[in-house]
Amino acid sequence: MKSKLSYPSVYPLDQRAVKILFDCYWTNGKWKLWRDRTLIAPEDYEYAIANGTMFPPRTYSHGDTITETIELARKTDRKQVSDAFLASLATHRMDWRSPLACLIVAKRLRKHTFVSSSSHGTFCDVCGESAYYPNADISVLNFERLKYGGVRHVSPYYITFDLARFHESDRPSSSDVQQGAAVFCKIIRDIQKLPEKSGASDVVRLVSKVLHADVHESRGIAEILGICSVLETPEYPGFLRRFTHASQRDIPAFPRTHLTYPVCWWRRPHGVNFSALRTLFPELKERLDDCDQAE
Ligand SMILES: [Zn+2]
Repeated sequence: MKSKLSYPSVYPLDQRAVKILFDCYWTNGKWKLWRDRTLIAPEDYEYAIANGTMFPPRTYSHGDTITETIELARKTDRKQVSDAFLASLATHRMDWRSPLACLIVAKRLRKHTFVSSSSHGTFCDVCGESAYYPNADISVLNFERLKYGGVRHVSPYYITFDLARFHESDRPSSSDVQQGAAVFCKIIRDIQKLPEKSGASDVVRLVSKVLHADVHESRGIAEILGICSVLETPEYPGFLRRFTHASQRDIPAFPRTHLTYPVCWWRRPHGVNFSALRTLFPELKERLDDCDQAE
């Protein structure tokens, strides 16, 4: 259940290192201004780096990032990330939340060269990344991972970071997975009971209620369900079904939404994609069959 600590309980990272990381980016319930992020004491920075909670800047190239993403997808086990996602719902281990969506996107990503049709030519039409990130801030990715369960699940730049950390991480107990599975099935059943006029923002509210989670965490779960094709539409599929190029990931002009592609398009009549759920969580087949019959 939800941690009562000010900072997430993350193992094997220690609370001092996590506090240093959070204090670098977050203050009084909001993001710090960019200029204030450099105010971290050198001894704190070194401690957090030695601990593996913060990271020195890293230079990324598009080609290397795509190669690394595809390689991590090949090395990462589907059941392990599915179990971690389920366990995250019971334990509030946010670092276990994001690898599932990252793996689904990574498995659909194909090797490609940078191509940009925009006037500035900044971002790749296929994957949405820059051609080159000099001295990129890696620590902010860990902050997003531990606070929100990640926010850039479709970004190869984030995916490489997230899946690499997952390979270093401990694994949930079967008890944590079972408890999380019960929570997850309740969320799915409650989505099925939403009124016909409901949309993705109602899923966010529903998740908040079930998990006693804030809007950021709940939005993250709705977005992961979209990315994994559980909450998708025929026109706007999730990544389990198809890799939609970054230049084609439309967002509705109205109603305006903070949610990402494709869950932003989901409405209750689109239903829950049980075929996707059975692919992602084959171990839950009997429970999912029960839910599906109630659809
Ligand atoms: Zn690309």
